[in-house]
Amino acid sequence: NLAEGARKLKLDPKEKESKPHCEKHQRELELFCETDRKLICLICRDCREHKSHDLRPINEAVEIYKDKLKSSLDSLTEKKSAVLQTELTQKRKISEEQASSLQTHITSEFTKMRQILTEKEQRLLRVLGEEEERIVEPMEKNLREIQENLNSIEEELSKLQKLTEQKDDLIFLKEEACRKRR
Ligand SMILES: [Zn+2]
Ligand SMILES: [Zn+2]
Repeated sequence: NLAEGARKLKLDPKEKESKPHCEKHQRELELFCETDRKLICLICRDCREHKSHDLRPINEAVEIYKDKLKSSLDSLTEKKSAVLQTELTQKRKISEEQASSLQTHITSEFTKMRQILTEKEQRLLRVLGEEEERIVEPMEKNLREIQENLNSIEEELSKLQKLTEQKDDLIFLKEEACRKRR
């Protein structure tokens, strides 16, 4: 109400010079009735209407209300900083949550990729094993034939060796003729 009165005072150029007056008694407003929360004049004070009401001089009322305003301003400021703190905590929780879900996502993607690579590796190794078998098998068969051939050559060689060591000319010629026939 005080603020409203002050605002009217400033906005109305006609009343700029004079102080606000009581509408009922046309007297200067000098008191504030706490009970009715309005400004009254000295005649109002003596009326029955305000008889048992709590009245104060205007400057004292202003002082009291300014104090009250200041304490509610203080508590509101305190409340604001508490709410800001809560906001910060909530924001931090959200970003932690987002980070951890991203972590889970990355881990699961890499697990999938690892699995795919392992399967691919095993498939390639299997194919390679089959290919190796296909190529090596005939080579091993060939090797066995080569070794058999080598054995018979060695056999022949040792026979020839024995023949050259034959001291008896007759037996030598006989065996040589027999060998050539063979
Ligand atoms: Zn009055
Ligand atoms: Zn009153």
